[in-house]
Amino acid sequence: MPVKGVLLDLDGTIYEGGRAVDGAAEAIERLWAAGIELRFTTNTTRRPVRALVEQLSTMGIAARSSDVLTAPRAASRWLVSEGLFRVYPLLLEETWEDLSGLKLIDADADAVLVGDLADRWDRTRLDRALQLLLDGARLVAVQKNRYGCGPDGIEIDAGAFVAALEYSAGVDSVVVGKPNPEFFRAALEDIQLEAGEVVAVGDDLRTDVRGAQAAGVRGILVRTGKYRPADEFDRGIEPDAILDSVNEIPTWLGVP
Ligand SMILES: [Mg+2]
Repeated sequence: MPVKGVLLDLDGTIYEGGRAVDGAAEAIERLWAAGIELRFTTNTTRRPVRALVEQLSTMGIAARSSDVLTAPRAASRWLVSEGLFRVYPLLLEETWEDLSGLKLIDADADAVLVGDLADRWDRTRLDRALQLLLDGARLVAVQKNRYGCGPDGIEIDAGAFVAALEYSAGVDSVVVGKPNPEFFRAALEDIQLEAGEVVAVGDDLRTDVRGAQAAGVRGILVRTGKYRPADEFDRGIEPDAILDSVNEIPTWLGVP
């Protein structure tokens, strides 16, 4: 089946450490020129879509807001579809603008939504979340990454706080960002294409490649960002292709 759509991870795939990967903007231009539908799919929970669009623009990539699917955006769609409208957010306020259709409250919550609070995690908020969970709120995680890469090196990520809340409340979380296949299905719905017509590209073997494959989407690993050579010898996950960088995607797809 010919490829009609590409889901592109951002951090580590389109840019690294705030700089565009060589040739990324040209590659995206070629894909758009060939009529391929693109979605920028990211688990980032620290910045709103608006800021990501601005960053892409400084890199010469003219993405529109509707071209970007962040985990908070996917989370709000999922919560609305489940009828969980009253939400206690453990997410940076900067990203609340992407939580459409929800009522953000700190009492009588249907769900506790956990993303990343960066350096604003505190005991008061975690205790509030725990109380709401013990009262029956669902625990919904935007992502469950163990650690990420910050300006000062490896840093603890939201997954550790999700695990803490699971442990204390005795509940399991629902993870709505990558690698949940639901996230990829939301992206497919967005671009109105079938799984077999789409490929996903990313630097994270588990989050990007395995997540996409679980939704029936071919997963391409790129050797940028958090890629490590050992990823190519993981027996559990076999990418549909491994390319040096996103700039090889158009040629791999046979796009002029
Ligand atoms: Mg990435």
